[in-house]
Amino acid sequence: MRVVADTSKCVGAGQCVLTDPDVFDQDDADGTVVVLVDEPTGEHEAKAREAVQICPSQALSLAD
Ligand code: SF4
Repeated sequence: MRVVADTSKCVGAGQCVLTDPDVFDQDDADGTVVVLVDEPTGEHEAKAREAVQICPSQALSLAD
């Protein structure tokens, strides 16, 4: 599973970072999402799936 982020949709809400700061960060300049680990495993995979669900702007998606 791979995490895909569309920064053009990201509104910098930070919900993904709160869900798993090991996988997601925010750009220092504009607050948009930075994916730190694009193929998370184990508990981080579960957290990444949760982040995709809760992102308020549908900026995150999953690829195989
Ligand atoms: S939760 Fe969505 S909108 Fe908020 S920072 Fe993460 S990707 Fe961007």
